[in-house]
Amino acid sequence: MATFKTQVVSAHEDGAISAAVQQLVAGELVAVPTETVYGLAADALNDAAVQKIYAAKGRPAHNPLICHVTDADMAARYVAVTSLARSLMGAFWPGPLTIVLPRRADAGIAPTVTAGLDTLAVRSPDSDITRKIIAKLDRPIAAPSANPSGKLSPTSAADVLEGLSGRLPLILDGGRTGVGIESTIVGVRDEKLYLLRPGSITPDDITAATGQPVYARDDSTITAPGQLASHYAPTAAVRLNATERQAGEILIGFGDVAGDISLSASGNLSEAAHNLFETLRKADTFGQDTIAVAPVPNEGVGIAINDRLARAAAPRD
Ligand code: AMP
Ligand code: MG
Repeated sequence: MATFKTQVVSAHEDGAISAAVQQLVAGELVAVPTETVYGLAADALNDAAVQKIYAAKGRPAHNPLICHVTDADMAARYVAVTSLARSLMGAFWPGPLTIVLPRRADAGIAPTVTAGLDTLAVRSPDSDITRKIIAKLDRPIAAPSANPSGKLSPTSAADVLEGLSGRLPLILDGGRTGVGIESTIVGVRDEKLYLLRPGSITPDDITAATGQPVYARDDSTITAPGQLASHYAPTAAVRLNATERQAGEILIGFGDVAGDISLSASGNLSEAAHNLFETLRKADTFGQDTIAVAPVPNEGVGIAINDRLARAAAPRD
């Protein structure tokens, strides 16, 4: 793997977007802001460039990538956009909803992006900066979270630098991300919706917008590889549903459980999602063996938070 002196450039600086596009055209990686977490982007039509994402992250090859597009029209070049898919895009794009659709064969998506699947995951990020980069490149960018595989997702340019310094030439700094957790992923097959990963857009939101039920993930219907048990792991061990600190622990609070630091003292789930990864990073800096985390209600965005926490607490290899 080539090594770089990684530059961090303000996304609002003159020439920042052109510099990012230039790197992507040259087949290099650029870390870009989105509303969810920072992404590690490559030109999705350039297989050699996409392979660099896997090398930089140490990501298992069977875990496919999400392609980021400007809008529904760009998506339609690469996937079959059914009428249900179009209504999802109309309701939630740009925004934190990824849609898995039948891939158009021969549309040029690099084979490494999809890890051999006949479907492609697409999303339009709610970041003007990143949508401008995609528009100027006039190609989708494949972009997983910009962190070493299995570790905490990055919600700031500094987080990206900490995890990937030297493995890419350029990080665009667009400030701290808003949503704070990765996109909701929904699969569409035979005009039925399946939840593949919970996020800030909930099944109820999707049903309200489309009038359609959202089914639980069905492995026989849609393959969603790469949903690994252990993921989002801080350095310390993680203990869930803790209401008190035990010896050797730092306690992350929520609502009435104050803790040493809190996801949201007022018990607000969106605020907790926004703070989740940063709070886990902060907790790690206390140097305790274990991070204990207060219970988070398993409703609305809380379902996505608990999904991430369960993976953070899962046994590691
Ligand atoms: P990440 O980019 O790290 O947030 O992970 C993206 C996730 O999207 C992967 O873990 C996959 O589970 C999911 N994904 C990407 N492409 C597909 C696809 N074609 N079919 C099903 N799931 C997908
Ligand atoms: Mg990730």
